[in-house]
Amino acid sequence: MLDQLKAYFGFDRFLPLQEEIIAKVLAKCDTLVLMPTGGGKSLCYQLPALRFKGITLVVSPLIALMKDQVDGLQANGVPAGMLNSTMTAQEVSQVQEQAQQGQLKILYVAPERLALSGFQRFLHSLDVSLIAIDEAHCISEWGHDFRPDYRNLKSLRQEFPGVPVIALTATATKPVREDILTQLGLQKPEIFISSFNRPNLTYTIQPKTDPLGDLLGLLEKHQGQSAIIYRFSRKATEETATELSDRGFSALPYHAGLERDLRRETQEKFIRDQVQIVVATVAFGMGIDKPDVRLVVHYDLPKTIEGYYQETGRAGRDGSPSDCVLFYSYGDRSKQEYFIGQIEDDDEQNKARVKLDQLLGLCDLQTCRRAYLMEYLGEAWPKTDCGGCDICLLPREEFDATIAAQKILSTAIRTGERFGVNYLVDVLRGAANKAVRSRGHHELSVFGVAKDVDSDELKELVRSLVSKGLLAQQGSGYPTLAVSQQGRNFLNNRETLTLSRPKQVVVARQENLSQGPSGRDQAYDTKLFDELAALRLQIATEREIPAYQIFGNKALQQMAFHMPQDEEGFSRISGVGETKLREFSRPFLKVITEYLQANVQEATPTRVPVNAPRKRVRGISTSIRETKDLIAQGLSLEEVAEQRGISETTIRSHLERFVQEGGQIDLAHLMPSEDRRLEIEAAFEEMGEARLTPVRDYLGDDFTWEELAVVRLDMRQRQAQGEPVA
Ligand code: ADP
Ligand code: ZN
Repeated sequence: MLDQLKAYFGFDRFLPLQEEIIAKVLAKCDTLVLMPTGGGKSLCYQLPALRFKGITLVVSPLIALMKDQVDGLQANGVPAGMLNSTMTAQEVSQVQEQAQQGQLKILYVAPERLALSGFQRFLHSLDVSLIAIDEAHCISEWGHDFRPDYRNLKSLRQEFPGVPVIALTATATKPVREDILTQLGLQKPEIFISSFNRPNLTYTIQPKTDPLGDLLGLLEKHQGQSAIIYRFSRKATEETATELSDRGFSALPYHAGLERDLRRETQEKFIRDQVQIVVATVAFGMGIDKPDVRLVVHYDLPKTIEGYYQETGRAGRDGSPSDCVLFYSYGDRSKQEYFIGQIEDDDEQNKARVKLDQLLGLCDLQTCRRAYLMEYLGEAWPKTDCGGCDICLLPREEFDATIAAQKILSTAIRTGERFGVNYLVDVLRGAANKAVRSRGHHELSVFGVAKDVDSDELKELVRSLVSKGLLAQQGSGYPTLAVSQQGRNFLNNRETLTLSRPKQVVVARQENLSQGPSGRDQAYDTKLFDELAALRLQIATEREIPAYQIFGNKALQQMAFHMPQDEEGFSRISGVGETKLREFSRPFLKVITEYLQANVQEATPTRVPVNAPRKRVRGISTSIRETKDLIAQGLSLEEVAEQRGISETTIRSHLERFVQEGGQIDLAHLMPSEDRRLEIEAAFEEMGEARLTPVRDYLGDDFTWEELAVVRLDMRQRQAQGEPVA
């Protein structure tokens, strides 16, 4: 099995539970797989599909995702196809024929097909070995995206009684789980539940004081990486997208109010790295199977923990460190409460309120956020310090909050326990505004008792008193604060209170975040990585598939670390299976070898074998960009070569590479005179050759190598721009 894992998928070992699940599937047991996003569910049916004699049917509700999966499988050399409503009748019958002739191992089908009687007949004409139900929670009305079509799956089960079924989902709650089992009629199913902890995600919840500023900081940290920003309303998504675009970021809005085509286009662009940031409502994400999203920001408060977990779950599916940041404010909380107040059905309203309270509990937390999440998801979480949430990452200090608490509670009592946090803070800080004066509260003894404490800190203290149970919140919309019985005891018995707070808030937070998980993995050569990524993008664009389907970032990082120089070494990179080895090893190895040559040549006057130990190569920093910048400043090739102490040939190869990757550079000052240029161009045309030597032979010694090379560069550049040459 490991051989096939490597040959087809390029992986060396299984992720947790995969092997056990696959063994059960191969033994033809029914299985239910509950795994978080990124857990590696697909492999649990894709690998068995290769081992079974017949075809594996995969029911999947998301057409966008389906295409992605099929493309990914084909890129790995697995014969796969799909049937859905976006295809023409001709495409459909072609795929059906392939399936009937046994040319496909995996066939993805949309659930609505199953209701068609003709389709049932078609299915019976196949040799079905396995049925996989992806996103199985869609069958449950308890789930967050119930799909009536999924109810048809029951009949599928009955039509193929002897065929094993594997149901997969990332939604773990009990009612959903039970619904899946009964609705699908699974027989003595084996149930696999893997941990829902996402160790590579760092959770941060921070006050929404300067959200745009903080957002820009986060995007800076994740420069050039994919990010999703969730906002509460459609209008807000457009505002933020504009604000980001104005600042030079590549950002687009996404919400259900946009044209279908536009939405699809935005999704595609995001998946293909043509746009970096999507600012979206929660409508965005279901169809997104992008493994390398590095940042998910909740700019506004989400409604439920389930939603928060699911949306943050779209970060870091590839297992690499990623950030999830939520901005939290009292204002947002009031907004949500207001909306909940509008729900007509009392039952629904109560449910929504409970859900919001649970989410607020997560925000108000002074202890590990991951522990709270895990507990909420029904998973035992033994550790207290997760090392991957803002609370655990921040060094905290305890402080005596007795006096501050007394002041706050007294102020609440003196003002009649009828006001919210903002008003209390005004009185505490001695703000003699109209509201305060009109009630005569500026004459109270507590007026201004906490003048010296800043208002954010006071609000934080109020929040802590609520979470400690000394203050009780009442009402929705703008909740008022009353002193609880526990709070009265605290005052009457002169108890003491110790709270914890972050040490040196600002400085400590930034330091920790940048050293956090995202900052690790820096050992690979980032310049080589950039070159490999450029090649990947070029191939992806040619084939019109997302870049990550060529290779994930992990694979490129490994290449930039190990710098393999032959197929053998290349095959050892994670993600390189047989098909990818065959298709891509040449161009990628070429980039690596040339990179090594360029750098080694420059470092030492005598040639060093290209398989020189990595150490010698790493640390030598010469970039194509540097060369290009000097040329752009108007220097000649000779001058650049001299200034950098490297050969002109190398300088030329830098420019070649730069142009090859789509770069544009002003060569005017290097170009020969117009008639010489035309003569050289004509020679290239005449010879039908891209190499310099035959052209030079043809033209004779009268022309220099440099002239020829520069003219060729210029021709390539114009060609890249789509201009006719000659
Ligand atoms: P899910 O459907 O559970 O969200 P996927 O099936 O999309 O997860 O897999 C998540 C990521 O993990 C993908 O990038 C996939 O290529 C990768 N992956 C799956 N199995 C393995 C494995 N055995 N070793 C390394 N990576 C794996
Ligand atoms: Zn933690």
